[in-house]
Amino acid sequence: MFEKVLIANRGEIALRILRACREMGIRTVAVHSTADTDAMHVRLADEAICIGPAPARDSYLNIQAILTAAAISNADAIHPGYGFLAENADFVAMVEEHGFTFIGPSSEHVRQMGDKITAKRVAREAGIPVVPGSDGPVRNEEEARRFSDDMGYPVLIKATAGGGGRGMKVVNAPNELASALDLTRKEAQAAFGNADVYIEKFLTQPRHIEVQVLADHHGNVVHLGERDCSMQRRHQKLVEEAPSPALNAEQRRDIGNLVTKAIKKIGYRSVGTIEFLFEDGEFYFIEMNTRLQVEHPVTEMICGLDLVREMLRVAAGAPLGFKQEDIRFSGHAIECRINAENPETFLPSPGLVGDYYAPGGLGVRVDSALYSGYRVPPHYDSLIAKLIVHGANRNECLMRLRRALGEYVIDGLETSIPLHQRLVANPEFVNGDYDIGWLEDFTGTND
Ligand code: ADP
Repeated sequence: MFEKVLIANRGEIALRILRACREMGIRTVAVHSTADTDAMHVRLADEAICIGPAPARDSYLNIQAILTAAAISNADAIHPGYGFLAENADFVAMVEEHGFTFIGPSSEHVRQMGDKITAKRVAREAGIPVVPGSDGPVRNEEEARRFSDDMGYPVLIKATAGGGGRGMKVVNAPNELASALDLTRKEAQAAFGNADVYIEKFLTQPRHIEVQVLADHHGNVVHLGERDCSMQRRHQKLVEEAPSPALNAEQRRDIGNLVTKAIKKIGYRSVGTIEFLFEDGEFYFIEMNTRLQVEHPVTEMICGLDLVREMLRVAAGAPLGFKQEDIRFSGHAIECRINAENPETFLPSPGLVGDYYAPGGLGVRVDSALYSGYRVPPHYDSLIAKLIVHGANRNECLMRLRRALGEYVIDGLETSIPLHQRLVANPEFVNGDYDIGWLEDFTGTND
């Protein structure tokens, strides 16, 4: 096992990784920007190294500074968390070239899945159903028009290098196609340095259902069930739950088996998530995330595994300690993402945290790096806490979630807690009766 791990991230996920390392007796190195000197991951790590100024491109995205920090601290391995460099194939390759272990998949798999067109091709070849669409980039308007006419409107133009819910445009009718194509290409070039776009059938009322997998270096692959992440705003998830209220036992078993088979075929290792849209009983692959996900705790809560520990074990070359039939799913879990933002306008609300009190009690977990007196910097993602609740069934989980949301005190900032409180009181959410468009209708923020 590793002796020392550098955590190339910040906030709650840096703390989450640090906790797993500490339980395993692994020393930790925190890296941080000048804006994060007082951050919890810096305070709790065995060592901390400042890697640059506040803007992420100068610190958390600064590959050279991170590799230098790993070298001078004598770390064996680097955990990227999510976001920042987690899905940067060049970074993964450089980590390995410099003699450190990357705690995640190989750079080839990260590269392959980071390009959405390639990812769809690989998935299709591995036997996974994909969203109908152009099999490659569309080169011009004429080609785009041909695909769209064939599939029928609405269609979705997607940047092959897109991510984080950005780089997509819905086209409702033929007369919108040319300008949407032009705009998405320009935006994709500016945001991702790659103007390639492709076309997909736009599904109008799907759910977002994703399957968690875990694979080792020895060909062992298991799936850890699904998560339902249909509660989204601007293609960004706000609430996640496991299992999905929309699947029956047979659908659950079938998609789990299908994904496991495909992952074996691809030769992937580490944790990974295959994302699907699910409509009228059919699954359609949209992408694979080659990293730990924000919402991994709901899976941990229903299967009793520590996914970060498993990632560390797999990266160190250990075989999985269990088989598919050893995995027992128990109860229901829901995660609320708590952002520092106005719950109605969604404008960011960084600043000084006053009184802070996190809920607790049976079945309640809070993953957060907040504390009273901490100043949330304006430079990074607005996620400040994840409230994860587990219950014997969905109903108990919801009761507990209402209770826990009511206890949570984060003074000094505007947060999404009031929005979550409205959600857990809504009969449609309570019935599990929602698709990916539901939240935008509910908040009145659909464009
Ligand atoms: P990103 O990498 O930016 O997260 P994804 O491909 O995972 O992009 O899509 C994110 C979200 O966008 C999905 O969860 C879904 O809400 C929406 N979406 C993506 N593709 C489609 C589609 N073909 N039809 C309808 N909605 C889609």
